Amino acid sequence: MERYDRQVRFTGFGESGQEHLSQAAIMVMGAGALGTHAAELLTRMGAGKLIVIDMDIVELTNLHRQTLYTEEDVRLMKPKVEALKEKLQQINSEVEIKNINTELNSHNIIGILQEHQPDIVIDAMDHFEIRFLINEACHKLGIPWVYGAAVGSKGSVYGIDFNGPCLKCLMGTMPQTGESCEINGVLPPVITQTAGIEVSEAIRFLSGAGFSKKLITIDTFGMNYKTMNVDALKDENCGVCGQHKYDHLEKETFRPVQSNCGRVFTLRFDDEIFEEEMRGEIIKENHFVKFISYNGYEMTLFKDGRMNVYGLDGQEEAEELYKEIAGSLKL
Ligand SMILES: [Zn+2]
Repeated sequence: MERYDRQVRFTGFGESGQEHLSQAAIMVMGAGALGTHAAELLTRMGAGKLIVIDMDIVELTNLHRQTLYTEEDVRLMKPKVEALKEKLQQINSEVEIKNINTELNSHNIIGILQEHQPDIVIDAMDHFEIRFLINEACHKLGIPWVYGAAVGSKGSVYGIDFNGPCLKCLMGTMPQTGESCEINGVLPPVITQTAGIEVSEAIRFLSGAGFSKKLITIDTFGMNYKTMNVDALKDENCGVCGQHKYDHLEKETFRPVQSNCGRVFTLRFDDEIFEEEMRGEIIKENHFVKFISYNGYEMTLFKDGRMNVYGLDGQEEAEELYKEIAGSLKL
């Protein structure tokens, strides 16, 4: 307990809070900006177990806002969950860290939650659609979760235990912080603040104080901080928490050609593509990823068959390229 002395001395948390935290399994969905900050704080504070899910590798443009990652991780093209686990274990070897290097989607989210049985989920994803999926999966399984989003200079946080409004109930009044960082940019301090508030909500819940039940919004450049009581927004007819209808969970989310941010497209192939002889030139590779240069496109091919392509002009060109590559494979 000695290493946690300073936080235990805070009476609102105390030895009892520490005890609860040390027995908690916390799932952090995403190991990007919010996820690395939240995971670091929870590791330093002595959480029992952290389960971290992410599908990406560490890239140079991540380093300004994603804590713990280094230039060496970029050079080695390490999957984020691997790089993060290494650093977290150096910070606190008592915390059990479980890595899941995969894309979270409607097919696997329920299975992942059932297998790892987290006491709470922390949202550290970067787009809205996945948050509605988390909302439905957590409601279905009765798991509390902390919504958190940050883009530009603004962030918002809301702890959801399904007694009050859920994310779908709130949707109409949710601040527009779901835009992408690639297009709108993001100021690193807003990440630190948003992730910090998410962790505060999580430790409130785990220590027995419960969520604040407030929607918290911040603007790190405009220097605003607001908390709103949102009890009145509970919708008795809400599709999720009122009627137990899970549209996002039931939706087919597999898209072979998907536009991400700006000019980046994700093409999805069978995972056997990773072992296939590819056209184009392999610039760099490891066990998880290959960088390929092909016909003026830069491609990142992941072990699970996902391929991020840079330099495409639009959906049509992306679909042409998809057909061309799929046609050339001997699968
Ligand atoms: Zn609801």
